[in-house]
Amino acid sequence: MTNLLKGIFLVGIILLTACQAEKITKGSQAHIAQVTAAIDDKMLANADEYKGDWLSYGRNYSETRYSELTQINKENIGELGLAWATELGFTKGIQATPIVVDGIMFFSAPKNVVYAFDTRTGKEIWRFDAELDVNKFPDLCCGFANRGLAIYKGDLFMGTLDGRLISIDAATGTKNWEVMTIPEDGKHSITGAPRIADGKVIIGNGGAELGARGFVSAYDAATGKQIWRFYTVPGDPNQPFEHPDLKEAVKTWNGDVWWQQGGGGTVWDAIVYDPELKLIYIGVGNGAHWNREFRSPGGGDNLYLSSIVALNAEDGSYQWHFQTTPGETWDYTATQPIILADLTIEGQQRKVLMQAPKNGFFYVLDRTDGSFISANNYVYQNWAKGIDENGRPIEAEGARYTDGQVHWIAPSMMGGHNWYPMSYNPKTGLVYIPTNKQSAPYGQSKGAADTDVAAGGLGWNASLSTKLYMPTVYDKNPNAPIPWVNATRLIAWDPIAQKEVWGIDQPIFNNGGLLSTATGLLLQGDAAGMFTIRDVKDGKELWSFDVRSGAIAPPVTYLVDGEQYITILVGWGGAPGLTQKYVDRIHTGTIYTFKLGGKATPPKKLPANEQPLTALRTKASPEQIGNGWNVWTQFCMPCHPTLGTGNAANPDIARSSNEIFDNFDEIVRQGIFLAKGMPGFKDAMTKEELEDLKSYIFYSAQAVEDGMSPIDYMTNIAQMQYLADQQKALKD
Ligand code: CA
Repeated sequence: MTNLLKGIFLVGIILLTACQAEKITKGSQAHIAQVTAAIDDKMLANADEYKGDWLSYGRNYSETRYSELTQINKENIGELGLAWATELGFTKGIQATPIVVDGIMFFSAPKNVVYAFDTRTGKEIWRFDAELDVNKFPDLCCGFANRGLAIYKGDLFMGTLDGRLISIDAATGTKNWEVMTIPEDGKHSITGAPRIADGKVIIGNGGAELGARGFVSAYDAATGKQIWRFYTVPGDPNQPFEHPDLKEAVKTWNGDVWWQQGGGGTVWDAIVYDPELKLIYIGVGNGAHWNREFRSPGGGDNLYLSSIVALNAEDGSYQWHFQTTPGETWDYTATQPIILADLTIEGQQRKVLMQAPKNGFFYVLDRTDGSFISANNYVYQNWAKGIDENGRPIEAEGARYTDGQVHWIAPSMMGGHNWYPMSYNPKTGLVYIPTNKQSAPYGQSKGAADTDVAAGGLGWNASLSTKLYMPTVYDKNPNAPIPWVNATRLIAWDPIAQKEVWGIDQPIFNNGGLLSTATGLLLQGDAAGMFTIRDVKDGKELWSFDVRSGAIAPPVTYLVDGEQYITILVGWGGAPGLTQKYVDRIHTGTIYTFKLGGKATPPKKLPANEQPLTALRTKASPEQIGNGWNVWTQFCMPCHPTLGTGNAANPDIARSSNEIFDNFDEIVRQGIFLAKGMPGFKDAMTKEELEDLKSYIFYSAQAVEDGMSPIDYMTNIAQMQYLADQQKALKD
């Protein structure tokens, strides 16, 4: 060896020793900076090779929510125990999927607070509060939800309820940049997770119920500069189109209401990137109004509502679309999670895309060109007689509910499946789906569109009939969901044969998303506060743990210094959680983390804390009470549907204190609880209507106290509503 080489060798040894001497402590800023900076396009595209981490919303770009970790399996599952649990101190719904990198966990909590946790200790590292604009709260449909973050080159990305996209330094929890992604019309909000595609952050938004015009945008991950935007529905047809395909889309709409009111078609959940094809698949939402008759009088498919649209990731240009529900009129969004897979179908290897949208049919499409492969209903449905060979539904008679009757239609506006993520397990070849069993009374009453606008929305009032005396068409099929009963069914679906392999009925609603593993485990938290692990083969329960409150977020699994962990974020809420619950008490949001041999003590289960029924009563006339029901259905019911039966995440108004009723005008009309998310209706609700509303609430409290049967109660209300409407018709 020459002296020169010897010298280089020596320097090398010294450097190596120096590095070892400064061994980075796990959980330190230097550690987080180092492990998160390494997350680049290549690593994200090969996420399956980084089994120990959870690098994006759906774990990998295919969003399979399948883990190849094998330490926890059917043989040793009995040893699975609590590693640690940390209470977060708020009782709002947690929907987020955490990101985990070398044992450092990042997640978004309600009101857009981001946490970094060390999973080795269960201790918080940092917290970032996006400090939301409270004036935005009345515009939210479904609580203070956020479904997750994206991570890229050392930065985290979050979309906020007030429409910002924020870049946060993963090591320090400080803001790099933020950019407003929505117009100032007060209609849009963000609950979905951003996705990363070749240095760009892709973000959508929600708000179709308020008349938002849907779009998805891409921003430069380093600077926040907007790169492209794709609109899902055309705007004012008298103005130039933002992109050429909207010229085709506009031919599928009628009248002017749609563009004057916004149209809908928001991209609030599924955004999936295929790095090989360089395509981004977006799931597009419902129309505004829900009811096509008001939105686009005379019909039309209304592109690209309720469609899966493929965009060029580079410039956001339209590539292809597939519309699951042409002329959408039931709130049947196609925003639900999308999973990419390579399947052998009729002897051919196909690159497919799979979705179980709200309309009740499971779709398998060729993701290279959008061509239809197959579809079948994964839940009971009665709005279509089937799907034709091109993938278009054959609608059932009366399904559009424009005939003056009320039709009980399945699925309901909550969908056969909603945002709760499904899991595709390549070992079983099955897709596991948390499905809903629920129907809803769709009907179109006179003046419904005006009522809709008056209540500040473009959804339920023009579609869900609240006129209890209207003639009603029930579905007599024994498999049809029972009216007013909410239930769910966890199913294993064969996407090639398009059939259910097994299913488990769950008499609860709003259960969590799924995760499946290579060792044949299927994990789910549910509305009754149980976290259960089942066998992927038959759904048989293998293990369960009481997590106190309903869980809606999907679990994740990862490695910590070579040891497999499982985490589930528990916090009851989400749209259905605002209005119902299946436990005695909603506990504070809690992170539960499990490992083999875990023996930590779980946080205490507290006793029920139901507020007493109001003792106030009414002497109002039947007409006033009947009108009170009209007011309640128009303004209150979507967020406070239980009267007397118990509080959910939102209060049961019939269990309010006297003080609340003393200040009812200030709260309901003047909006003094705006910061809590309660809007003020002073422009739409008169003082007389407010008094009628109170009378209806007190009447309902009396009915609960008397133990009146639900059928007698509904019959009485129907009669009083009829009298009220007759009296009003005479006055008009
Ligand atoms: Ca909707």
